[in-house]
Amino acid sequence: MKFDLDEEQSDIRGMVRRFTEEKLTPYASEWDEKEYFPREVYSEMAELGLMGMTTPEEYGGSALSRLAGALVYEELAKGDMATAVGLSVHNMVTGSLARFGNEEQRRRWVPRLAAGELLGAFSLSEADAGSDAASLQCRADRQGDSYILNGTKLWVTNGGEADIYLLMARTSPGHDSSGVSCFVVEKGIPGFRFGKTERKMGLHSSPTRELIFENCAIPHAWRLGEEGQGFKIALASLDGGRVNIGAVAVGVAQAAFETATRYAREREQFGQTISSFQAVQFMLADMAMKIEAARLLVYEAAYKLDQGQGSGMYASMAKCFATDMAMEVTTNAVQVLGGAGYVRDYPVERYMRDIKVAQIFEGTNQIQRIVIARYLLGNLRRRG
Ligand SMILES: Cc1cc2nc3c(=O)[nH]c(=O)nc-3n(C[C@H](O)[C@H](O)[C@H](O)COP(=O)(O)OP(=O)(O)OC[C@H]3O[C@@H](n4cnc5c(N)ncnc54)[C@H](O)[C@@H]3O)c2cc1C
Repeated sequence: MKFDLDEEQSDIRGMVRRFTEEKLTPYASEWDEKEYFPREVYSEMAELGLMGMTTPEEYGGSALSRLAGALVYEELAKGDMATAVGLSVHNMVTGSLARFGNEEQRRRWVPRLAAGELLGAFSLSEADAGSDAASLQCRADRQGDSYILNGTKLWVTNGGEADIYLLMARTSPGHDSSGVSCFVVEKGIPGFRFGKTERKMGLHSSPTRELIFENCAIPHAWRLGEEGQGFKIALASLDGGRVNIGAVAVGVAQAAFETATRYAREREQFGQTISSFQAVQFMLADMAMKIEAARLLVYEAAYKLDQGQGSGMYASMAKCFATDMAMEVTTNAVQVLGGAGYVRDYPVERYMRDIKVAQIFEGTNQIQRIVIARYLLGNLRRRG
């Protein structure tokens, strides 16, 4: 077993670290304050090859491993979690289109997504279908060569800004996953409009929007995969997304830890730096120890995804462990800074506000534990 990065991984991490320090870290607080979505940064990330990260080169992607991807998300999130999350969602869409699309669909959308000309969004959740996502009710009724979409989707990251929506909708009645199909929907098509923008605790520069479909006709050719395969496609996309979010959490926690350590070395009380107090030292030691454990688990989950080895359980473990860790670390970073941690002069309060959602989206951490238990024990649902 080797714990060192190879040369390519090291170069990618170095490149994204420089990009983050120059293009994200100095502006993240202002974007948060103004709830500004920095679309221009996505064009710059496209130039670095980050908009089609795991996509094959023949469609304009970078064909990076999931492990290299984890390094990218970790570095970006040190500067701005919202941008890292927006990029992760975009890459879920680009990757799913490259993986599940037919040749015509790939040619139509993937190269432009990878080039950053188009931005992607992923739409599974609804008001009454959150953790129980398979019960979604947005309808896609077949009519000749078209599907007619009717319904409302909620919580769409990049909503409104994105040009391409990977949409899960029901092609046969019921409340289970077998009736769910996956569609690609382009922004601007008649019958598709945007509803409310959520007002959130954190992640302010990442728009979260409602999608409304009213007798919206889309071509039959925009269905991805077979009818009834939509939930499978969504879950496959989420495996990668969960590892990405684990990496994002490691990055945010690392940034919080570094701010807290710097502050502890400088701040003096009782005639000495607060870093000389054992209570503070232990908080910093716990932070460092837990960040390192989460980082190793995230890298392992990414590696298993690359190898195709029972990756779903590891993706859930990485997402759950790393985001719980990051919530604890960012909360303690605020504590180390005292009053200064609670105000906006330092970024730790933003880290804490931002990271909370990582315990909720891409499946709550309760749902991750259910997924892990199912892998360990089999399906727990009662039969008969
Ligand atoms: C900022 C933000 C961005 C998002 N982006 C997207 C996106 O881009 N695309 C998308 O499709 N969705 C997105 N979501 C939706 C997100 O995935 C859902 O919020 C999440 O899956 C939880 O669903 P819910 O909010 O309806 O909570 P609920 O399902 O109502 O859960 C409420 C509570 O009950 C618990 N719970 C529910 N069922 C169980 C159970 N069986 N056992 C134990 N506990 C349970 C949950 O863990 C949670 O604590 C986003 C959400 C947010 C907040």
